[in-house]
Order: sequence, then C-alpha cells, then structure tokens
Amino acid sequence: MTYQLRAYQHAAVHKVLAHFRSSRQSACLVLPTGAGKSLVIAELCRLARGRVLVLAHVQELCEQNYAKYSNLVADGSAGIFSAGLGQKNASARVTFGSVQSVAANLEDFSFDVSLLIIDECHRCSLDEHSQYARIIAALSSRSSERSPSLLGLTATPYRLDLGYCYQRHVDGIVRSDEPRPFVHCIFEVTLRQMIDQGYLVRPQLIDAPVAQYDFSSLPSPGQVDDAVEVNQLLVRHRRVTQSIIEQVVELADLHERRGVMIFAASVDHAREILGYLPPGQAGIVLGDSAEDDRDHVVRQFVAQGLRYLVNVAVLTTGFDAPHVDLIAILRRTASVSLYQQIVGRGLRLHPGKSDCMVIDYAGNGHQLFSPEIGTPKPSAQSEIVAVTCPVCGYDNQFWGIKDDAGYVVEHFGRRCHAWIEAKNARCEYRFVFKECPHCCAENDIGARACGSCQKVLVDPDDMLKAALSLKDALVLRVSGVQFLASGNRLRLVYHDEDGAQLTEHFDFDSAAQRGVFNRIFSRRIAHGQRPLELMTAAQAVQLQRHLPQPDFVVGRAQKKRGRPTFYRVRERVFNYVGRFRTADHS
Ligand SMILES: [Zn+2]
Ligand SMILES: [Zn+2]
Repeated sequence: MTYQLRAYQHAAVHKVLAHFRSSRQSACLVLPTGAGKSLVIAELCRLARGRVLVLAHVQELCEQNYAKYSNLVADGSAGIFSAGLGQKNASARVTFGSVQSVAANLEDFSFDVSLLIIDECHRCSLDEHSQYARIIAALSSRSSERSPSLLGLTATPYRLDLGYCYQRHVDGIVRSDEPRPFVHCIFEVTLRQMIDQGYLVRPQLIDAPVAQYDFSSLPSPGQVDDAVEVNQLLVRHRRVTQSIIEQVVELADLHERRGVMIFAASVDHAREILGYLPPGQAGIVLGDSAEDDRDHVVRQFVAQGLRYLVNVAVLTTGFDAPHVDLIAILRRTASVSLYQQIVGRGLRLHPGKSDCMVIDYAGNGHQLFSPEIGTPKPSAQSEIVAVTCPVCGYDNQFWGIKDDAGYVVEHFGRRCHAWIEAKNARCEYRFVFKECPHCCAENDIGARACGSCQKVLVDPDDMLKAALSLKDALVLRVSGVQFLASGNRLRLVYHDEDGAQLTEHFDFDSAAQRGVFNRIFSRRIAHGQRPLELMTAAQAVQLQRHLPQPDFVVGRAQKKRGRPTFYRVRERVFNYVGRFRTADHS
C-alpha cells in the first residue's frame, strides 16, 4: 500500500531534515489531531539514517504508528517494544516503544539511536526523574559518537503546569526564556488551516444548550483530580443530566447525526448517561473496561452498529472513528489540550459528512482556534488580545481586557515575544518592568537580580517592610495622583486613602528631570503599548488620565538641623505583586 503525503506533511518532513542537518538542538512539530502525525512519523523513520526509536505513552498510539510505518515500508524493518502489546523487540532498525516499557528496560537499548521521536510530546516534562527524561539521558550517554536527534510531535504543545513545551517558534516567537523539553518548534499547521484547506470538517459550535452544569461553586479546575467533587455535584443534578441527554438525542435525530460521542465526568456519571440513551443504540467505554469488552464496543461504534458512545476521557488519543459528527461535552476541563483532543475526535473527513456539531454543556468556554498563550487565564473576563510591540512591531498575543469599543484597556503581557533574527536575540521590549536602581536597566517584574548589572533587585515587599519600620519614612498606599503644572514645572501629589500625601516635582526645562519623568511615567503609558516622550509639563497634565499610577510611594524625611522639613519621594512601586494590599481604585 502506498501513501501520498499531503503538502503540509511533505513540508513538515522537509523541515525536520533541514533542521537536524544544521542543528543538534531538540525540535518539535505541531500538527492538529487529524493531520496524520503517524504518516509524518513513518516517512521520517523511512528517511532516517541509522536506528530510530519512536515513543508513545499509550499502546494504541504505538500500534498505530507501527502499522502506518509497516504499510509504508513493508520490509520488516520495524519492531514493537511494549509490554502491553506483548512484544519486546528492540533489534529492529525502527522500534516503536511505549514509554513505560522502554524506561523499564533501558539495558535493551544499548545501541546508537540516531533519531528519537516522541509522539504526544507535550507530555514531556523537565523533571529529570520522569520516564521521558531517563530515556533521553540513557540514550544520550550510551551513544558513542553523538546523542540522538530529538524530535517531538504534538497537536497541543502546552501543559497546564509548564505552558508551552518549547522555547522558540519558527515564526519568530519566544515562548519561554526558561528551559523547555524542546528548544524549537520548527513547523506548525493550525486547526484553522486544516479546516480551510478541506483536510478536516468544520466544527459547528452549538451555543444554546437547554441546560448547563453550574460548576462555579467548585474550586477552579487545576491538575488535581477533582472527580469526587464533580461527582457530588453531578449527583445533585440528575435532572440536568437527563434533560441534557434528551436534547442530545433530539439534536442527533433532527440533524441526522450518525456518530455521537458523549464525554462524561466520571464513571458513575457515564453510567447514568447511558441509562438515558435509547437502548440498543448506545455503548460505554470506561477507563477500567476489560480490554475485550472495550474493543468490542469501539468496533461496534466504528462500524456504526452503535450510534452513541459514552466515555470518560479514555478515547481522546489513538481512537479513530471518522464518522463522528456530534460531540457532547458533559465534563469540565481546565486543559485546552484535552478540550481540543475531544473536539478533534469529530473533525475527521468521512463520506457524506460535512461538519461536526459540538455542544459544551459544562461551559468550558475554551477557544478552539487561538486557544492558548502559555499562561493561565488571569481572570474570568480576560480574553486573548493583540498587543503590538512599539519597538519591533510584532503582534503579541496576551491575556487582556478590552472595552466595549474593542480597545485593549489592560493586558498581562510582560515582554515582547518576538525573536529578532538579525540580532539572533529576543526583542528587549518590556511592557511592564522593574527598573534597576543601580543601572536603570529594565527587568522583569519578578526578577531578583538585574539582568544587566547582576546586582540584587530589592523585593518590593522587603523594601516596603523596611520602610514601614523606619521612623523617618512615609509609605503611601496610592489611591490617586494629581498632576499640576506651573509654567514648565510639574507637581505630582500622591494621595492615600486616609488623606496623607506626598509631593514631587519635575522641571521639564531640565533635560535630565524630563528624562527621569519620561522613563518613570511616559514609558508605561497604556501598559507600555504606546510609550511617549513628553516635552512639557502641560502635556503631562493633559495626558494624566493615561499615565500610570504607582501602587506605593515611599518618602523619606529630609532634615535641616536635625528637624524634619519635608518628605522626598524615594521609591515608586508600579505593577506591584505581593502581600500588601493595594488601594481600591474604584
Ligand atoms: Zn518587540
Ligand atoms: Zn542593574
């Protein structure tokens, strides 16, 4: 059997070859569910010189990747190493192994591996004791000449705890300055591109469910297993579950859906759902189903002998039923990856299928097309906003808040994400920053030492605590600032909630003082989106609504002949994050 690679699959393979020809650094490919990752893997294995090890975390994937390669290259050069599949063959040129089995039998892999491929590579962590890390370390130390080229593939390159699993994107985006399991993302096809090019069907997101679970009383979903609490909530909402399933059945009938997948929150929940579905038309797959039973149900569903399939997150990877055209999500997930995988089950092409209905009864509200920016959503009203870097012009995607007219009034981006190819460095621009008191360099607001002069940056909490203990210091929790101009002299009056105030002056006729003002204030206009250089005190007054307000200001008493005369502003703390309360600005 021969396969024709699609254009983007060719491109992906080409990128990998080109990358490892010139670099030893690890790389990953991002291909959405349904993009045919296993064919890309097969082609890479075929073209690779030397021995190849392909790792997957579940045996279904191992088997699928093996089957795809064996169909492409029918020369018996492939073997499977997976206890779950009952085969431990490490002698083939291309080995498809399960992570668990390989990690448990590292002594069987005491040969040079030239290419190590990790499927679903967003599962890799930085933990050196993880199975992935131990395999990579063992292969790297055993290879006599050089460690293997490390390639990952995933549809969803992020984790809840880590954010992106790679540092740099080929489009010139820096995702992280910290180490990540992969250095480069060298190729990405988006879900939208796949749909627009007709490789996947369009998801039809149904907006108005009859009923929806209200999970708001539960703590926000993290990585912790909150199954118990979710269960208790669902038990209290039996009527909701029943009416939801009635609607699913109604919609399936009305829109002549052929394959309906229902994602439940727990085993009990799944069983309850099954009870509401038409008898004889529905099957259930639980995490603990005996293998035979599970295979039988899945086969029946794939053959369209069953119309409904209820499952508890076990059919998110390595399951292929292209006819699925309705997906009902009755579980909550904080993980965009999981959400995408769930929806991805319904986007495969199939004869006679033109779209896939997706109904989210759990109000997950994840965006399918621009889903993740590497950090958790900071607040409920946050959305992804585009923020242009004033230095390099790159359009960053940050969490932010827009006003009714669509303007970004606030964003949570700290630094521009652009990679400047010409300088071979990341764009230096910071939207918010902590200024080094020693050399004036701009540092991340969480930095502990200055990136430029390496001197220790005082933690604002320590500074405030120290100031509060001093008799001659005045710490103001700023609730408002007045801007007053007299000629070209600007007077700033900081007020706290109790009526205390501190004053400072900037003489705009002095280039030095003007520079200080611009550095402290004008640079931060509109959260650093549009820095300005103000030339007159009048301009500052005019723009005062747009100028930032420090959260705290610290003054120190100036003494004349031992007696205090006035307080001079010594510190202004912007973008404060710490344990002291800031003033209520409402
Ligand atoms: Zn930039
Ligand atoms: Zn410094």
